[in-house]
Amino acid sequence: MTINDFEKKYNKEDINEYLAQVKEQDKKINSFLYLKKDLSKEIGVPIAIKDMISTKGIVTTAGSKILENYIPPYNATVIDKLERNGYFVIGKTNMDEFAMGSSTENSAYFTTKNPKDLSLVPGGSSGGSAAAVSAGFVPVSLGTDTGGSIRQPASFCGIVGFCPSYGAVSRYGVIAMASSFDQVGVFANNIKDTKAVFDTIRGKDEKDATSFDLPSEKVSESNIIKIGIPENILEGVSKEVKIAFENTVTSLKKNGIEFVQVANTNLQQALAVYYILVPSEVSSNLARFDGVKYGKRENAEDLIELYTKTRTKYLGSEPKRRTIIGTYALSAGYSDKYYKKANILRQQVKDYYTKIFESVDLIMTPTTPTTAFKIGAVQTPIELYLGDIYTTVTKLAGLPAISIPANTNDKLPVGIQFIAGHKKDLQLLQISEKIEQCLQTY
Ligand code: GLN
Repeated sequence: MTINDFEKKYNKEDINEYLAQVKEQDKKINSFLYLKKDLSKEIGVPIAIKDMISTKGIVTTAGSKILENYIPPYNATVIDKLERNGYFVIGKTNMDEFAMGSSTENSAYFTTKNPKDLSLVPGGSSGGSAAAVSAGFVPVSLGTDTGGSIRQPASFCGIVGFCPSYGAVSRYGVIAMASSFDQVGVFANNIKDTKAVFDTIRGKDEKDATSFDLPSEKVSESNIIKIGIPENILEGVSKEVKIAFENTVTSLKKNGIEFVQVANTNLQQALAVYYILVPSEVSSNLARFDGVKYGKRENAEDLIELYTKTRTKYLGSEPKRRTIIGTYALSAGYSDKYYKKANILRQQVKDYYTKIFESVDLIMTPTTPTTAFKIGAVQTPIELYLGDIYTTVTKLAGLPAISIPANTNDKLPVGIQFIAGHKKDLQLLQISEKIEQCLQTY
């Protein structure tokens, strides 16, 4: 369902019938943690919101038991902007706890299912938001992407997922996972709708000092688009992903897009850097969930016992694991060895991209190494982390990137990732529209 489809199909009078249908059909998918009870006073287009984003008066859990009873007293900037511009929140979507994960199996509440095949994960961490769009419940939804949490579930669910440049959208009111990586972005069925929502939420916000307005220059229509493919980028991907990737190259070439091979960065190393820096920031951001300031609290004799009992009982195992790893990586004696070294390598990744974007408009890679996997199939955290290889690396440099569904003969969707230079979000969306057209006519 696109924004246009929704507007054609539903009138004000049957809006609660629509809500009832969503509620009924979501029993199979479990994309929502919370759905509004009555939409009769709402105006505009419904949008589903990842439960990481604060909504005034509506419980916001971040997928965690520690915030099960937390009702924010204010809206995130993105929510205010949507509500002022023709959208209304229909509900809050399921997610991996504090956005740590790639399957929604880390949600403290339940696992969301992939609408394309109910035995599969929808991806994560914004799995509920992706599933809600893929299932046709809403035309658009918001997710957050720290290392792939919009692009990966979009790829698994066969829809568009866009992660803007770091700072292009305000993070005010977005629960923090890793502050130098987190970014709000959009799920939709096409680029037009993606752009409509992005244009509504983006821009400088005085409440977020890292936010900015994007430069508006366009790619000239007469320019030949040049896309770089990193060397050996298909090493280790599944057969379906390889075929979908190659089909995409063929159809884009037929439409006059040029391809060149570019150097690859060390992806394994970049993934390791991500999984040092993100837990470091997590360990510091999650310290605020201590039983005193927000959410749940356990009774105790003294403060240390209160912290310990509350966090032990209400935080899940992935947030605990990352807090321990991050605290270790930041500790005196080890921070030089891990945290500082990882930051040096982060800079090298940024330099790598700056150099590549001197000669190409976009870089193309798979979004994920495989299609969606079975619920329960991935047993260890490392296995899950390895699936993030193509999406974490762009975030080390804060770049905008989008996952667009490829043409596949296979039953399961495959997403292709297109990456642009920093602050080139509008150019990325402009070229994505062309790519979308090429793939439709393929
Ligand atoms: N799967 C990645 C992680 O667990 C990305 C998460 C995200 O983007 N929020 O860190």
